[in-house]
Amino acid sequence: MPTLDAPRALQSSQRIWDQEILPALYEYIRIPNKSPAYEPRWQQNMDRAVSLIEAWCRKQPIGGLQVEVVRLPGRTPILLMEIPGEGSETVLLYGHLDKQPEMTGWRQGLSPWQPVREGDKLYGRGGADDGYSSFASMAALRLVQEQKLSHARCVVLIEACEESGSTDLPAYIEHLTTRIGKPSLVVCLDSGCGNYDQLWTTTSLRGMVSGNLRVDILTEGVHSGDASGIVPESFRILRQLLSRIDDEQTGRVKIEGLQMQVPAERLKQARLTAEVLGDEVWNKFPFVPGARPVVTDKIEMILNRSWRPALSITGIEGLPPLESAGNVLRPYTACKISLRIPRAWIRSLPRGW
Ligand SMILES: [Zn+2]
Repeated sequence: MPTLDAPRALQSSQRIWDQEILPALYEYIRIPNKSPAYEPRWQQNMDRAVSLIEAWCRKQPIGGLQVEVVRLPGRTPILLMEIPGEGSETVLLYGHLDKQPEMTGWRQGLSPWQPVREGDKLYGRGGADDGYSSFASMAALRLVQEQKLSHARCVVLIEACEESGSTDLPAYIEHLTTRIGKPSLVVCLDSGCGNYDQLWTTTSLRGMVSGNLRVDILTEGVHSGDASGIVPESFRILRQLLSRIDDEQTGRVKIEGLQMQVPAERLKQARLTAEVLGDEVWNKFPFVPGARPVVTDKIEMILNRSWRPALSITGIEGLPPLESAGNVLRPYTACKISLRIPRAWIRSLPRGW
C-alpha cells in the first residue's frame, strides 16, 4: 500500500497555509462571532463567519466534496462537509467556529478582533480555538488526494455553539444521524499538543463546572470609616466561601469527591511526557520574571492539569476599577467560578447529568 510522501506533503501544506489559509484566517479573526452564551444577538456575525468558511471550503479541489450549511430553527448553524471515500467506514472530523468573548489581558499591540502575525504565531480571537479546524481538515484531505492516496469517507462537522457548552450539537447529531453514518474514527480538532515535533493524542481533558457566586451585605455603599468593623466585608465573606473549595496555600481542591485515583497507565504516560517535554511543561506560559509554577515536579504539573480538579476565578463584579475606588464599603462582591474537574469523574455521574 502506498504511503504518504511526508516531505512533499509538508511542502504543499506550507504553501496552502501561507497562500490560502492564513488570509482567510485573518478575515475570520476580524469577525466578532462570539458564542451565544456571550452574545444574545449572535446571528449576524455568526452567519458572516459561516459564509466566509463555507465559501473557502467550496473552492477546495477535493474530489466529490459537498458543502452545506444546516440550520435548525432557533439554533446556531452547522457547517457540514461530506467527502466520499473508499471502503465502508466513515471518519468524522469535528471542529467549531464560534468564539470566546474579548476578555482582558491582551498584550500591548494585540487585540481580539485584529489579526497580528508575530513569527510563526497568529494572534486574535478564535484563530487557534477553533477557526483553524475547517481549514486544517480540508488541507489534510487535499494532501492525501494530491498524492493519489486512498482515504475513507469523511464527514466534517463544524458547529457554532461549542463555547456555550455545545447545547445545539445533540439536536444536529440527531437530525443528521443517517447522513453522518457510523464513524469508526472521530478526529476532534479542538485540543492542544505538547510540542510540534511529534504527533500527540489527547487522552484526558478536564471538564468544567462554572457559576457565579455573589455575596450581598448592604443595599447601598457606605463610608468604610463609618461602617467597617460593624458591617462584614463582602469580599472577606467571599474569601471564606472560596476557601471551602480550595486550600488558599496550595491550591488543592478540598472537595474529596472530586479527587481521582490516577490510572497506573496514565501515570506512566505522564512520566514519559514529562521526559519528552522537560521545562516546556511550564515555561510555555508567560510568567512574569521571578514567578514560579504551583509545584516543581513536572510529572505533578502534568497530572494537575489533566487529572486533578482546580479552581480559577475568571471574573469579578461589585468592585470599581482602582482609579475610581474610594473609601466605600461596597454593598456586594460577586465572582465567576471556573472549577476544572477530571473527566473520569464526569463519566461516573449518573445518567441525565
Ligand atoms: Zn475550542
